[in-house]
Amino acid sequence: MTEASAPEPSIFTRIINGDIPADILYEDDDCICIRDIAPKAPTHLLIIPRQPIPRLADAGAADQALLGHLLLKVGDIARQVGVEEAFRVVINNGTGAGQTVFHLHLHLLAGKAFAENDL
Ligand code: ADP
Repeated sequence: MTEASAPEPSIFTRIINGDIPADILYEDDDCICIRDIAPKAPTHLLIIPRQPIPRLADAGAADQALLGHLLLKVGDIARQVGVEEAFRVVINNGTGAGQTVFHLHLHLLAGKAFAENDL
């Protein structure tokens, strides 16, 4: 008898389930916000949907409200931590773009000078 094995939960799913610790700044029914473990700016937060969509390109029309929620939360959280005047939001999609954790997440980066053309 063959059994289909469930896909490995992502590191973010394990954090959401409380299996591994993280510095959680915010959570609601749809997402959590944690501090990045290897910050690339003085403020480096991750906004992560509970639903494990692997990549932005895997999201569909059914995820429209969730994607809007995530963006609105970025703004709320930026205000909460006092960086609302200058922050950058990054989503890496796919290995070729630097994505290493295949569970959609938005990077909120702030507290350093961002060059105008440094995308
Ligand atoms: P990259 O690693 O190139 O930034 P991603 O866009 O997939 O690619 O981002 C994954 C992010 O998750 C990284 O910034 C990494 O530091 C962060 N990260 C990995 N494991 C943890 C963890 N246990 N707690 C918090 N952040 C984590």
